[in-house]
Amino acid sequence: MKKLAPVESLERMSVTSLRRVGPKVAERLARLGLFTVQDLLFHLPLRYQDRTRIRPIGSLQPGEQTVIEGEVELADIRYGRRRSLLVSLGDGTGSLILRFFHFSAVQKSALARGSRLRCFGEVRNGPNSLEMVHPEYQRVEPDTPLTADDHLTPVYPTTEGVHQLTLRALTDQALSLLEQSPQGLPEWLPEALLGRFHLPDLATAILYIHRPPADAPQDQLLQGAHPAQQRLTFEELLAHQISLRELRLQHNRTPAPALQGDGTLRRELLNGLPFQLTGAQQRVVVEIESDLHQPLPMQRLVQGDVGSGKTVVSALAALQTLECGLQVALMAPTELLAEQHLRNFSQWLEPLGVEMAWLTGRLKGKTREEVLARVAAGRAQLIVGTHALLQDDVLFQTLGLVIIDEQHRFGVHQRLALREKGRVDGHTPHQLIMTATPIPRTLAMTAYADLDLSVIDELPPGRKPIATVVISDERRDEVVARVRAACAAGRQAYWVCTLVEESEALQCQAAEETAQMLAEILPELRVGLVHGRVKQDEKERIMHQFKSGALDLLVATTVIEVGVDVPNASLMIIENPERLGLAQLHQLRGRVGRGATASHCVLMYHAPLSLNARQRLAILRETNDGFLIAKKDLEMRGPGEVLGTRQTGELQLRIADLIRDQGLLEDVRKAAEWMLQRYPERAAGLVRRWLGRRAEYGKV
Ligand code: ADP
Ligand code: MG
Repeated sequence: MKKLAPVESLERMSVTSLRRVGPKVAERLARLGLFTVQDLLFHLPLRYQDRTRIRPIGSLQPGEQTVIEGEVELADIRYGRRRSLLVSLGDGTGSLILRFFHFSAVQKSALARGSRLRCFGEVRNGPNSLEMVHPEYQRVEPDTPLTADDHLTPVYPTTEGVHQLTLRALTDQALSLLEQSPQGLPEWLPEALLGRFHLPDLATAILYIHRPPADAPQDQLLQGAHPAQQRLTFEELLAHQISLRELRLQHNRTPAPALQGDGTLRRELLNGLPFQLTGAQQRVVVEIESDLHQPLPMQRLVQGDVGSGKTVVSALAALQTLECGLQVALMAPTELLAEQHLRNFSQWLEPLGVEMAWLTGRLKGKTREEVLARVAAGRAQLIVGTHALLQDDVLFQTLGLVIIDEQHRFGVHQRLALREKGRVDGHTPHQLIMTATPIPRTLAMTAYADLDLSVIDELPPGRKPIATVVISDERRDEVVARVRAACAAGRQAYWVCTLVEESEALQCQAAEETAQMLAEILPELRVGLVHGRVKQDEKERIMHQFKSGALDLLVATTVIEVGVDVPNASLMIIENPERLGLAQLHQLRGRVGRGATASHCVLMYHAPLSLNARQRLAILRETNDGFLIAKKDLEMRGPGEVLGTRQTGELQLRIADLIRDQGLLEDVRKAAEWMLQRYPERAAGLVRRWLGRRAEYGKV
């Protein structure tokens, strides 16, 4: 038998050094992400059972999990819809029914009248009285002491083939190792910090969470609000914060060109615009300008709701770079969006004499070579494109600024890859990232701690809010009539089809059928159709037609989600909006409300709606505020989904919950700075502990 001696490091000690863990069990544990003793110690209970005392039956409430003891008053087999054994157990304070659907002859005799039983199970409301269905039970003599357990019983997250009892036995071993050698799990948090935030030390916290005393506050534990849990939450958030800050510091180790610029191009653009920048735009422009003045690479995220005017802000940053004779690259997630940027920027910048280039995956052969040559020689000053900008043979002459639009579509790796490409003579280009997915500030500062944050929190004046209605598809005729009326008045409309399955083919088919149906009942309208299966050229041609007013109604799938700008479109119908998330619906709806006319959005759902769907649609009806919607979205879906791909590598939290633990984020941020300055080795230890297996991303 393996002997457990005091050890140096539980961080590296394999689970296989524990008793009862052979290759097979180890393989199953690996499925839970448990490789080391440390992993086991950080594998925390989901909830607890109280097996420390026997409760009087008369005092039980439905929903409780508890131990009871009593005498069998009656045992009876019932032949109803399902054969079942009903056992009535009484203890003098009351009685309840134990219900068994499967039972052997042996069991049946153990459960006979007069037997004394001790049971553990969940109390439920039965047809006539309280019940326990298939409780754990044992026959006992009167006055048998309860188990030696004097603590609550943990219930762990588990997986097929790993029993709760196994996890309990293994954590028992891990905890006793920890007790023997607390230094095996180093305390990385400095004492000053623990004292300041009233947090227990690491070993105390872990022992408490795995085996809380019988009188522990269970409600607090369930909410993750106990100081022992908060201590670990704090530590986990701190580790993430430190690793992102380090990423940030790494950026700063290479210099960037300080871009002063004489302001001529920027002034010219501003003078030619038909509008004034909003206060929020001006503020963000100043923030970017002063970043670009620094000889350190800017890493700035600009958040702004759909239509807040991020493009012109990025154009000013581009001009500041061009004034200094350096190149600018602009990357968008789809060809359609890249193309729209190309159009906006050409319209604004070509009159100023700026040379533009266009690069997408579809560009082939000689044309492509020519573009690459212009880029490499520096003849092209502003290069707009898609992921194609990342291809190996795309070489810039002197890239000063990288602009990335709709950041949530790109992962952190792609973002960093483009920056690396621009690295010439030890210089790193500045980076400006724009996103229309607004997230609350504290959360953004945690999720994007490697970036500085600017927020355009004001829409250009004169925008009329989009009036949103929620109606059932039984009233489709009325909706069609609305489309007819809007188009008759010279405006344009979108009709968006969604589909629950991730099947693109089915979604395209649905859009095709809808377009056909609408063309038949609205013969006076010119109807266009775009979906994922429509060829790129064709898609662009149709979008152009719609934009130029040659089409009245555009039927589409969610491909039109981001960025498309057609100011004359003032009506949007979204079919089956209940299938989409809040943020996506808000993005879609943002396709209208871009012009001077009052816009409308019709959310045409298919009954019946789930409670959650009803709430989502109600939120959209009530507000146009992207930040508020994002906040609700977070509450309803959790940050992982909202923040998208970026999180898969980084903010995968094991214990902390960004919503629940928002209150800690500000302290965590300060503590991270302090640790990095005062205790860099401890900071490194924390990152290794919490992001160890994923720490590679920092080296991108
Ligand atoms: P988004 O932030 O969604 O990318 P855009 O940059 O596409 O928004 O801007 C939306 C529309 O608003 C564009 O037609 C743009 O020219 C216009 N716009 C931008 N800033 C202003 C402003 N300050 N006043 C009026 N219109 C503006
Ligand atoms: Mg945009």
